[in-house]
Amino acid sequence: MRTRPDHTKALQSAEEICRRIGARLTRLRRNVLMLVLAAERPLTAYEILDLLRPKDPSATPAGVYRSLDFLTKLGLVHRIESARSFIACAMPDHAHPSQMLVCRRCGTVVETEDSQVTRATESLGRRLGFAVDNTMEVVGLCSACRR
Ligand SMILES: [Zn+2]
Ligand SMILES: [Zn+2]
Repeated sequence: MRTRPDHTKALQSAEEICRRIGARLTRLRRNVLMLVLAAERPLTAYEILDLLRPKDPSATPAGVYRSLDFLTKLGLVHRIESARSFIACAMPDHAHPSQMLVCRRCGTVVETEDSQVTRATESLGRRLGFAVDNTMEVVGLCSACRR
């Protein structure tokens, strides 16, 4: 099971980073971050939009995508490529790279950092002249789904 990110801490990091880079944590960006933080599993942009609409009827897909883009660049949100969805970073203070364990049945994602895996993938990339992304997805079945 994924450790639930600490909402207050995540919001604080978001505010701090924004101050540092001179960006604004707009109401939309903040709301998107809160929804991703509160979710039990990764959310697609359209699921986020549906959850937002009751609070913010003016929210648009483009606005949600831009906010997700912004939060992803700050490292507060990660995109799960294999599921085309987004999760909150489980460790907002960590220096990525990280590995994402993605359950193909229930969609749960566990974010973890294993330096041995990172080193092994980097060395594999070097050997084959391949620049590896620093986030890796490992697909399988989570412990609950294996029971
Ligand atoms: Zn992370
Ligand atoms: Zn599962």
